[in-house]
Amino acid sequence: MQEIRLLQEKLANPSKIVITTHDKPDADALGSSLGMANYLLKLGHEVTVITPSVYPEFLHWMKGNDQVKIFTEEKPEDCEAWVNAADIIFALDFSVLSRINELGEMVRSAKGFKVNVDHHLDPEDFSDFQYWSTEAAATCELCYELIVALGDEALIDKDIAECLYAGIMTDTGGFRHPNTTKNVHEVVAKLIEKGADNSRVSKNIYDKNSLNRLRFLGYALSENLKVMPEYRVAYFAITEEELAKYESKTGDTEGLVNYALSIEGITLAGLFKESDGKVKISLRSIGDFPANEIAGRFFNGGGHKNAAGGRVELSLDETIKLFKSILPEYASQLEEESRKI
Ligand code: 5GP
Ligand code: MN
Repeated sequence: MQEIRLLQEKLANPSKIVITTHDKPDADALGSSLGMANYLLKLGHEVTVITPSVYPEFLHWMKGNDQVKIFTEEKPEDCEAWVNAADIIFALDFSVLSRINELGEMVRSAKGFKVNVDHHLDPEDFSDFQYWSTEAAATCELCYELIVALGDEALIDKDIAECLYAGIMTDTGGFRHPNTTKNVHEVVAKLIEKGADNSRVSKNIYDKNSLNRLRFLGYALSENLKVMPEYRVAYFAITEEELAKYESKTGDTEGLVNYALSIEGITLAGLFKESDGKVKISLRSIGDFPANEIAGRFFNGGGHKNAAGGRVELSLDETIKLFKSILPEYASQLEEESRKI
């Protein structure tokens, strides 16, 4: 980790700042982006948040949401102009520029000072300042620590605290995953002290379902969920047609894969979702089973040990066939992890 003074000096005078985060932003991505945006605005900077794509409505309550520029809804040349004009670019919650689609090459060639705050493995060398730790449960946890390290803890208000709380809450699976460390609890305690209303945040994120979303969940649990007890694996395979039937929106399938993982004795759970002729894969695992290894080796992706994802340009049937074909190699590991619980 570099000297924090380097970043303090960069932030000493009002600057033009662009903040960006990964494709299909989740609560950690948007929470860290808007948490930092609200903080940097307080320091007197001019801040533009650009997301590569749309994000679910259950994140729209965050302060500053109405100012966010969504790349796919703007002119690419405007986005490029904002990125090029930035004195400082914050890249939050992703470690490789390919995670921000076309914005990636714009950020790479931009002249601004680049700051990468992230908790994913194997960071690409594109930034001038890294605040990076795979020990952190969430980028929002690192953003809290970064603001404190910059000497600005006193600037964290209710709005900033709620954005950051949201990302930590969701990236720890509601404080249930093994990444829920003592430090996580200490940081969220501070955020509550700063005014975060934890009950309001969790209501906004977890309990704002549309009826269609719940009906779809019922359908998917009864029709799409497959269990392979011999491998300790459970998965959902969902077609585009099924998603359309329930008017599924961005974010509506978030969390679905956890139902497969919640089955007793399951070590690895998958969600295979057809989208634009491709298949998006979400994997979740328990214990030491490396979901990210499966995502990296077979599905052009990566992620964390217990939560990973990727995508393939295959049909849904072919993807499931591929998934099933890799299980024998992992059979003993899948079995072993389920026995540890
Ligand atoms: P999700 O299943 O929620 O889409 O993604 C879970 C985690 O897997 C993310 O936090 C991210 O670390 C990783 N991930 C998801 N999709 C991709 C992908 O296409 N490429 C890489 N490298 N990681 C991914
Ligand atoms: Mn994250």
